[in-house]
Amino acid sequence: MDELTQILRHAAEQAAAYRRSLSERPVARPVDHGALRAAFSAPLDRPGADPRTVIDELVAAADPGLVASAGPRFFGFVVGGALPAATAADILTAGWDQNAFNAVLSPAAVAAEEAAGARLKELLRIPATASVGFVTGGQAANTAGLAAARQHLFAEAGWDVGRKGLGGGPRLRVVAGAERHATADRSLRLLGLGTDCLQPVRADERGALDVEDLRRVLAADPDALTIVCAQAGNVNTGACDDLRAVCDLTHARGGWVHVDGAFGLWAAASPATRHLVDGAELADSWACDGHKWLNVPYDCGYAFCSRPAVHAEALSYSASYLTRAEATPAGGADYTAESSRRARGFATWAALRELGRDGVAELVDRCCALARRFADGLSTAGFDVVNEVTLNQVLVGFGSDARTDAVVQAVQEDGTCWVGATTWRGRRLMRISVSGHATTEADVDRSVAAMVRQARAL
Ligand SMILES: *Cc1c(COP(=O)(O)O)cnc(C)c1O
Repeated sequence: MDELTQILRHAAEQAAAYRRSLSERPVARPVDHGALRAAFSAPLDRPGADPRTVIDELVAAADPGLVASAGPRFFGFVVGGALPAATAADILTAGWDQNAFNAVLSPAAVAAEEAAGARLKELLRIPATASVGFVTGGQAANTAGLAAARQHLFAEAGWDVGRKGLGGGPRLRVVAGAERHATADRSLRLLGLGTDCLQPVRADERGALDVEDLRRVLAADPDALTIVCAQAGNVNTGACDDLRAVCDLTHARGGWVHVDGAFGLWAAASPATRHLVDGAELADSWACDGHKWLNVPYDCGYAFCSRPAVHAEALSYSASYLTRAEATPAGGADYTAESSRRARGFATWAALRELGRDGVAELVDRCCALARRFADGLSTAGFDVVNEVTLNQVLVGFGSDARTDAVVQAVQEDGTCWVGATTWRGRRLMRISVSGHATTEADVDRSVAAMVRQARAL
């Protein structure tokens, strides 16, 4: 066997051995950060090493600091564990080493993004005519969607923001729920709009945007150009905004609706949860993640826009060396803020091929059912589930704030599973997110038992 084949096989075997260990490995062990840093800090003036030695050193250095977030009992943040075919496709992506900038550099990468993008639109019920940019995640997708919104609204007001910038231009406001995701604010900072342009809308008791308050906020400042940034999937409660009402109210005033649906937009892929995101198809731009609920490896998100020309105008560039034959399709870089890009379409294509339409729906349904199983188990044990579990998120109180924090810490140290804590409505809560394809009922039961055991031991 030649050396390259040997080293690629060796790396794949190491990755597979790690994956096999996930169901029994402590989900997050206590980490000695100093030792971890030391293990990686080989001086640069050592002689170079053969690839096999390099990979063995890397595995030894990294292993103590790996978190089993790809495993079946990681319920922190909103994290999926990459599917087998998607993982293998990503290994191929590295091996092929394609630049997905355009269809000259990689016709296959562009074709895979096109095909996967079409299937994503079908599953997420986004109009088939929308453009798709394969980006690094929800953050980048929010930035792309809001960049397109900015481009379009300014252009309609006779202002070419790409050329003139923001100074001296018309006034633009961004109306968003009080419980929007923090990445929306960062996107506004990056786009030069600034967070002072935000006009917050009250959240209702579920954590979704209060439609009556939206009506009030929209009417209070009728002269400003308006982007409404709505949400499918509150990062604490999982609540989805009433997207039909948001789109109707916003469009009646000539505004643009961007939907941050990093994980919640996947509700559209199942007949059982589709009603939660009813009206999403009416929006102007959408952000969604592949690396959360679709269980594609990091990093992978999708930026959709109902107006492909606006999307490209906001983000693409041209140069003298980039002449493109008429027959060559637009490349992925026209719809993202990156230039040279990893070929993210292959892994998404593989995940969708592995699951199929029914498999995606089943994954969504299963995670929601497992979230309800968490809620049932913990409330039966006497703890306080504070949100209505309509999607994959569960919030639990264990008494006082201090006690809840102590339970979360004890559960993390126990190692059976991993959950985080959050503050919602002024209260400290355990936050459980079920997003991984590998989680079973037994994993939930084992995790509930660990939570109850730790809570009672305090
Ligand atoms: C996770 C999340 C984001 C950010 O997505 P990344 O993939 O981490 O960049 C944005 N919005 C919502 C609602 C999210 O849940």
